Amino acid sequence: MKPTITLSLQHKRDLKWALVSITLLFTLISCGGGSGDKASEVNQAPKFTSNSAFSTLDNSFETGYQAVATDKEGDPITYSISGGIDGFSFLIEPESGAISFIHIPDFEHPHDDNVDNIYELEISATDYNDAVSKLMLKITVAGNRALLVIPVVVHVLYQENPEHESNITQEKILSQIDVLNKDFRMKNADLENVSAEFKSIVADLEIEFELASVAPDGGATDGITRTLDQTSANFNEAVYFTNSGGHDAWPTTQYLNIWLIDGADRNGNIGLGGRGQFPGGDPLTDGVVIPYQAFGTIAPVAINQNLHLGRTATHEIGHWFGLRHIDMDTNFMDTYVPDQQMLFFSEEQKATIHGIFAPDGGREELYENLKD
Ligand SMILES: [Zn+2]
Repeated sequence: MKPTITLSLQHKRDLKWALVSITLLFTLISCGGGSGDKASEVNQAPKFTSNSAFSTLDNSFETGYQAVATDKEGDPITYSISGGIDGFSFLIEPESGAISFIHIPDFEHPHDDNVDNIYELEISATDYNDAVSKLMLKITVAGNRALLVIPVVVHVLYQENPEHESNITQEKILSQIDVLNKDFRMKNADLENVSAEFKSIVADLEIEFELASVAPDGGATDGITRTLDQTSANFNEAVYFTNSGGHDAWPTTQYLNIWLIDGADRNGNIGLGGRGQFPGGDPLTDGVVIPYQAFGTIAPVAINQNLHLGRTATHEIGHWFGLRHIDMDTNFMDTYVPDQQMLFFSEEQKATIHGIFAPDGGREELYENLKD
């Protein structure tokens, strides 16, 4: 029995009690008295029709699970999380029943209570008359986009003047790859300096880097190209093109291109730290540009400007993966922060990056080419 009267939302509650009273009244009349118990029998609690077990992939806040219950009376249903040993790990949208993780799940680092990647929670469906039914739900997290190893090509654009030391050594380049593999994997030693308020959201991005060993033509390579820099100015478009005095990009669906330039001004200071192109841009300029003075941890590095820990590349590659600047003290995507102060990526940032690898994401093709 549903009222055909339409009332505004704020009156719904009143209407509900009015209906209960009317129902009670009719019950009393028709039965000629008796207790009010029969009134409660009129309403039935919602019934869950969604499954009690579900499997999802890691590295996304969304579980993909939606609680669904039906109500005999056709009342609106409100969903909530009411218990379970892992109940506190989830959020539920009260109206749609969509369930999401509070912390991004990581198959390699489960954070459910018994550390088996099976999260147990109790969900409730409540109808208009506060009749409740409950469902014990098990959500299993499976490994999804586990470790991705990205081949890197470093295009060294060196200056003619030998005192620039711009034709940097392989050792210096490898020192940068090492920094990346620590920063993107939560293995940086200074992680302990992350401020207390952010400790719980630090994430292992599950991405690693290595100098490419196979060139685009299929031949062997050390992942380094060396070109006498004939571009006229730092950070101009010429660095991306061989016929402008720079070096052409290797296919950006297979490699991360890093161009090294001389970033010093006439006073020897590095002006712009670096540049990273967001996903979805021109493939011919897709990569990061970094001054050799801010690359790696081996001299020559601009210690006086705090650009000596290799965090310029960490930050710019963050942009290359689609991350934007944020205002979060000690995050790698903070702006104009000394290298010593850039310490971590967050769970949100991990979700953004793994979203970019997903179907229709900005670097889906790279992911498809590199996985396995
Ligand atoms: Zn930036």
